[in-house]
Amino acid sequence: MPVVVGLAVVLTGLGLVGVRLHEDMTTSWVAAPPWTVVAIALAFAAAERMVFYVQYRREAMAYAMSELPTAMALLYLGVWQTIVARLVGSLLVVALTRRPTWYKLVFNAGLFTFEIVLAFFVFHVLQGDEQGFGDLMVVSMALTLMLATIVDGVFVSLVVSLFEGDLLSKLVQQFRSTVSMVVVSSVAATLLACFSLWWPDLAAIGLIPLGAIWMLLRRHGLAAQQLRDFEALHRLSSSVSRSLHRDEIAKMAIVEIQDILRSDRAAVVLFERPSGTAWVAASVGSPLGDLPTQIGDPRWHAFVAGAAAVVLDPAAMVGLGIELGAKGANAIVAPVRDDDQSFGLLVVCDRIGPNARFEPNDALRAGAMADRLASALKNAELHEHIEEEAWRDRLTGLANRTAFERAVGEALEAADTTSSVSILMLGIDRFREVNETLGYHVGDEILREITARLRNLVGEGHTLARVAGDEFALLLVDDTPDAASSMAERLLTVALDSFRLPDAELVIDVSIGAAESGRATADPATLLRKADVAMHWAKEHHSGFEMYRVEIDQRTPERLSLLADLRAALEHCHLDVHFQPKIDLVTGVVVGAEALVRWEHPTRGFVPPLEFVQLAETTGLITELTDQVLGKATSALRLLNDIGFRLDMSLNLSTLDLLDLDLVDRVARCLAEQGVPADQLTPEITETALLEDGVRALETAEALQAMGAHLSIDDFGTGFSSLSYLRMLPAAELKIDRSFVTNLLNETRDEVIVRSTIDLGHNLGLRVAAEGVEDEATRERLRALGCDLAQGYGISRPMPLSRFVAWLTTSGHEVARAGVDGAWKPLTRPLDISSAPTLGRLAQPGESTQY
Ligand code: C2E
Ligand code: CA
Ligand code: CA
Repeated sequence: MPVVVGLAVVLTGLGLVGVRLHEDMTTSWVAAPPWTVVAIALAFAAAERMVFYVQYRREAMAYAMSELPTAMALLYLGVWQTIVARLVGSLLVVALTRRPTWYKLVFNAGLFTFEIVLAFFVFHVLQGDEQGFGDLMVVSMALTLMLATIVDGVFVSLVVSLFEGDLLSKLVQQFRSTVSMVVVSSVAATLLACFSLWWPDLAAIGLIPLGAIWMLLRRHGLAAQQLRDFEALHRLSSSVSRSLHRDEIAKMAIVEIQDILRSDRAAVVLFERPSGTAWVAASVGSPLGDLPTQIGDPRWHAFVAGAAAVVLDPAAMVGLGIELGAKGANAIVAPVRDDDQSFGLLVVCDRIGPNARFEPNDALRAGAMADRLASALKNAELHEHIEEEAWRDRLTGLANRTAFERAVGEALEAADTTSSVSILMLGIDRFREVNETLGYHVGDEILREITARLRNLVGEGHTLARVAGDEFALLLVDDTPDAASSMAERLLTVALDSFRLPDAELVIDVSIGAAESGRATADPATLLRKADVAMHWAKEHHSGFEMYRVEIDQRTPERLSLLADLRAALEHCHLDVHFQPKIDLVTGVVVGAEALVRWEHPTRGFVPPLEFVQLAETTGLITELTDQVLGKATSALRLLNDIGFRLDMSLNLSTLDLLDLDLVDRVARCLAEQGVPADQLTPEITETALLEDGVRALETAEALQAMGAHLSIDDFGTGFSSLSYLRMLPAAELKIDRSFVTNLLNETRDEVIVRSTIDLGHNLGLRVAAEGVEDEATRERLRALGCDLAQGYGISRPMPLSRFVAWLTTSGHEVARAGVDGAWKPLTRPLDISSAPTLGRLAQPGESTQY
């Protein structure tokens, strides 16, 4: 401020010095009546009143056409009179219409004085001694006017830059935006002044072209403004369309809007739908004050409900709780709305610059910008919605697999050395059966119920997802060592609670597998796979919960190379079959043998069958394996038959074999090729096959039985036996698992089991075999318990065919022969399959069904 006042003093001083230098200026060039002073003062006032704004880039520059009164004054007034006319005319208008500060008035006074003196001084100097009307006068007047206006502009820029800085660019802007107007209006004013000399009475006519020019320029100014608005909107649109995130869009928009409207402070408030909570999505400048926090805020209601942007005067701002900026500064509020309703507000405060205020057309511009912002926000909202859908499981509302993997990835990245990331994978056992027997709507209901239980247990803090139809996954980030297993235990208890259906109660089994991120595993897919492996292991072994270990993983590199070798071994028929005799416990006669596959690996040596059989099962090689064992077993039977023995051959079938619709045909073909009757074959099956797909497994079992084969239920007691299965199955033999037999003599519990199994088998009309008979005492005990058949190391280990044949003749055991009675007890039990309960039946109220 002192600088501005100082500048005013300097300018006035310079003016006075100028008058001193050229005393001529004090008298008028042409004599004129005294009222001319008044007329010219009025002309100055009119010019100041009709000031119009020239916009250049984003700067608005006031442009008053004071050239005409100045030109007239050069002719008809002396410098003092002119100064008075100018100060009175212009300052009065400035003071009344623009409410300037006092120092600005002082500055303007100094500037006007200086400008007038400068004009007179230059005009008189250019004129020299030539006193008269001529070309020189016209030219010097035009030049004088231009110079005076430009110098005026320079000083104005200088002062504005004192407030806003950036003098050079302000000068350039000022010059570029006004130069054409300065030239045109200076020349026009000069011509009009000259015209008044020739033809004083008609000088007024000259005002007409001047007025026309003034209007044209104004129009031009408006058109240019519209173009700039259009450009600004376009710029805003393209900047907000660069993002699909609402926050980001609001932030980019507010910066643009603040810039375009030249405002000091601005904010975008958005309303969350449907809650109506409001939040400040973006703001610039110092805080605005009390912005609404709810769409229903009564103070803001009019703006939320309104369709157009409005200018707020300071009083209205105070009413809304917006902090006032500079004195008199106002604000604009524009609704951010889609077709029918507002979902946000744009608030813009304090136009930059001393005494600058928003005008009604600024509100229009703000409204147009709010509309652009609205459409960008709507797109973003739509995109967010679609994206959210893509990450979400529709049925349960949980995260889906993709979202889960992403969350695991983020957790792994964020994990440090002290915390560990674990995944718990929870699978529902035999969920397909639930769907198939009870209907998909029940299945869906159960999934939702499980979701609710899990959510309830783990809380909102953990990422819970449904990663497959019947599989849920939980992400745990924890540093306690047993976090995963203790969480699994808790999950098991809630998941296993029975489910109340409208007309029954249902018990569902779940299996949980967990994997922990070690230092080696850093990618989500691997961690998920490991949890999956553990979960499947838990499922297969009915253990409830398993932690991932390398031993249970079938897809380790070692497994893969074993698989390749197994494939080659099958291709080149390198697998062998050994035979283990079965004896009748009552008579001691050898009545049969079990065919057991053997693989002598070229480098690893003996590979336990359990290991590679399982590998074959999971990779589809099992069909080929079963075929080869079947081939060797039947040709062994052929040989034994040819020798004159009449043995029964047990053959292990895997679950997948039983589900294979072709199996029966292949067995029949094989038997026919060797000319062996089907009743010499005893396929051994386990209950697992029935649990997997009971209907199809039953079909196969029935077809084998119909062919004449005698089915044996292997590993009895280890699976999920239930009497209903036993009743359904067309079996001839029940084989007690060797885990009960081995310790038969020492473990009373085992003895109870063996004894009751024998009773059970007999009651169902089955003969009962015991495997794993390792010594004479056990064999004796089994015989005493009424067991029919025995097999085990105590009788003989499995042997290759040649040794087995030799053993038959040298072991001292009698061997069943064709035509010898008592060797084979055919099954006489009548089977009534149709009356057997179906799998997965609904429990009656009060009773619960175990799936
Ligand atoms: P499994 O069907 O229970 O076969 C009996 C297993 O018990 C055989 O093991 C046999 O060697 C063993 N064993 C027999 N007597 C005794 C004894 O007194 N004490 C002990 N400790 N063990 C005895 P192996 O040959 O290792 O076979 C293991 C399993 O591999 C079999 O159990 C069967 O599930 C599977 N397997 C074997 N051969 C085949 C095959 O050709 N096809 C299919 N699908 N599975 C087979
Ligand atoms: Ca077996
Ligand atoms: Ca067995």
